[in-house]
Amino acid sequence: MGIPPQREDIIINFDCQFEVRLKDSTLSSILAAFAELLTQMLTDFIQKVLIGFGEYWMTLKKKPFTCKHCGNDKHFTWKTRHGKPTKIHAFYRWVELQQLQVLCKHCGSKIYITRKLLGMESRKRIAATIYRKLGLLGSLTTYRVAEKIGGMFGWAVDKMTIWSAFQKTGSEIDFKLDGNELPQGEADGTGVGINGIAKRGKELKVFVQYKKGGGVRVAGLDIGNYNGAWDKLFKNSIEVFKGFRRRFLLITDGDTTILDALKGKVKVLVQRCLWHIPYQAKYVLWQDAVKHKSEGWLYVMSELMEICAIRPYVDCKDTIKKMLESKRKRLEEVIVHCRQKGYNHTLSYLENARPDMFTAIEKRLNGKTSSKVERVMRTVNMRANVSKWSEAGALNVTKIRLAYYYNGFDA
Ligand SMILES: [Zn+2]
Repeated sequence: MGIPPQREDIIINFDCQFEVRLKDSTLSSILAAFAELLTQMLTDFIQKVLIGFGEYWMTLKKKPFTCKHCGNDKHFTWKTRHGKPTKIHAFYRWVELQQLQVLCKHCGSKIYITRKLLGMESRKRIAATIYRKLGLLGSLTTYRVAEKIGGMFGWAVDKMTIWSAFQKTGSEIDFKLDGNELPQGEADGTGVGINGIAKRGKELKVFVQYKKGGGVRVAGLDIGNYNGAWDKLFKNSIEVFKGFRRRFLLITDGDTTILDALKGKVKVLVQRCLWHIPYQAKYVLWQDAVKHKSEGWLYVMSELMEICAIRPYVDCKDTIKKMLESKRKRLEEVIVHCRQKGYNHTLSYLENARPDMFTAIEKRLNGKTSSKVERVMRTVNMRANVSKWSEAGALNVTKIRLAYYYNGFDA
């Protein structure tokens, strides 16, 4: 083992002696023995590298560490290179390292430098880079599968470690709108299986934002009761909403509680709610001085009531197509009537509404894939349905998966 301390790169000469028992010389026996050997070497290898860099640090005039008691960062001597053992996770397995400890020449304090050398926070047993890897793994497949595949490569990581890494990774992920992407998005909810609650007891709420280059990113995520509690979904994004130069266009399937979550905080444009159109029509007809319940008033109102009534659960494409044709034709006739009669407020109101009125039903016509949030939901369900989750577990698995597939999270 030799350490040239003048350079930034340090070369560790690693001589090792090992003993592995093999029953035969088949390739599978050799590889199994090699996997065993590799993990055995891991502890020694880490220990030697740490001592190598520790020796290098001690040659530096100004040290990369400081005495917490007196602030000295120059004068230290070795206390020990093989001190009290400490356990850390080294991705392939847990390893026990002997701590490196130095002595402050000014005040006599003893300082462990092992974690500092490893780039880990003091007293932590798993580095962020490691638990994020394990967390991603645990969210992309089941723990059992992760354990099985790992085992094939000589890994010794237990399900519990993967589970806790995965909860921690998920709890650190937060979503919000990106001010540099489009001021447009969709919000929707879907049922998820939660431990102890009937299959459709809770709703997973997802808020996606459209990206300039196409596709979507996730801007909000929560699990809660049906009809309500959308606040958490938008909470991080309120300031970003306000920062867009154009008003944000939010597309929803009409769950009005979604809008309640934004009321009084930020104004967004929403795909038109058909329920409101006849109500608004009463007002514009009044502006046009059309007498209440006169022939003209009754014609416009009754037609709009029928045009705006969308029967739910019609799932026959041809029927929807015919319905749309008929509704469009009748709307045109109402518009022509208003123009001829000089109902100018009503005319401009209906002409404005016309392009957005049937978006939702057209979406149904084109199949569910036209809703971008629907695709996101399917990505979630692939994993969320594998097993029954606690509410926190379901939220965390979903967070990691979506961050990985849509927001560039990687480990
Ligand atoms: Zn000191």
